[in-house]
Amino acid sequence: AATVAEAVAELAREPNAQVVAGGTNLVDLMKYHITTPSKIIDITRLPLKTIEQRTDGGISIGGLVTNADVAANSIVQQNYPLLASAILAGASGQLRNAATTGGNLLQRTRCSYFYDTHTPCNKRDPGSGCPAISGRNRQHAILGTSDRCIATHPSDMCVALSALDAVVRVVGPHGERLIAISDFHRLPGETPERDTTLAHDEIVLAVELPTTRYDLHSYLKIRDRQSFAFALVSVAAAVTVTDGVISTAAVAVGGVAHKPWRVAEAEAVLVNRPPDASAFSECAGRMVRGAIGRPYNAFKIELAQRAIVRALTQAINGTPQSQRAKHVC
Ligand code: SF4
Repeated sequence: AATVAEAVAELAREPNAQVVAGGTNLVDLMKYHITTPSKIIDITRLPLKTIEQRTDGGISIGGLVTNADVAANSIVQQNYPLLASAILAGASGQLRNAATTGGNLLQRTRCSYFYDTHTPCNKRDPGSGCPAISGRNRQHAILGTSDRCIATHPSDMCVALSALDAVVRVVGPHGERLIAISDFHRLPGETPERDTTLAHDEIVLAVELPTTRYDLHSYLKIRDRQSFAFALVSVAAAVTVTDGVISTAAVAVGGVAHKPWRVAEAEAVLVNRPPDASAFSECAGRMVRGAIGRPYNAFKIELAQRAIVRALTQAINGTPQSQRAKHVC
């Protein structure tokens, strides 16, 4: 596609077409025959590769800006270090050089049954069943699951975007619309085959971030293999402390649900409290309220709470986990 309008028109014409940008997930899905598009629309020439400061003080990150370029951008590093830290915790340098902002939002679950076409999977083949519920579910969700699917969303970037109240700007045949990041990814419910609220004939133009409201932050990622792995649990914590008490707080948890997990009531317990272990523990308990553990992933209920407390503690102490050196502080 040479223009955004052309890309959208092609998608609208072809119900089984897909767009490709970095290709770091789509190409894998095609190799495994999990997705078999009738047409691939190359959008890499579209003018969506810039990060712009908006007049209201926020920024707009083009859908085709690579993950590496977002993490290295001076405005992002200065005003949204939580986002840079989360991106650097994900994938490898090679993948971040190719993967795009829009593609990161739209990447599919890493559930091993989803990738194995010899097994049933409601997400890949609706109505066929979910072997993960009674099978190997170490990586799977403990919150927001359904009896159709217990997959997680694998992104690190989206966990930070969730804590930062990002908005996704998309365009389709009927024009542009804005989708709050909290509404972009879906819980599986009865239709786990649908990951997001993006329509088939829409593409991501940009991710918009409001002016940052937080002074302190930490992105903490707990994984089986520190060099390169998806999160068992990750936490994006952002807080501001005024006169000895927390004035604003956001906590988003990854690796536990089909979308980054936020609970307004849990964040509210932090406000007007001193930043101490008692407040953090209460917040953590409320964040995982209603969690369901299965044989191989029940440990995540405790792990998530400990990770929330640790991420908040690191944020307050100004010792965010080093994603570059992979040290655990
Ligand atoms: Fe498929 Fe979801 Fe079950 Fe995994 S958890 S096997 S993606 S239905």
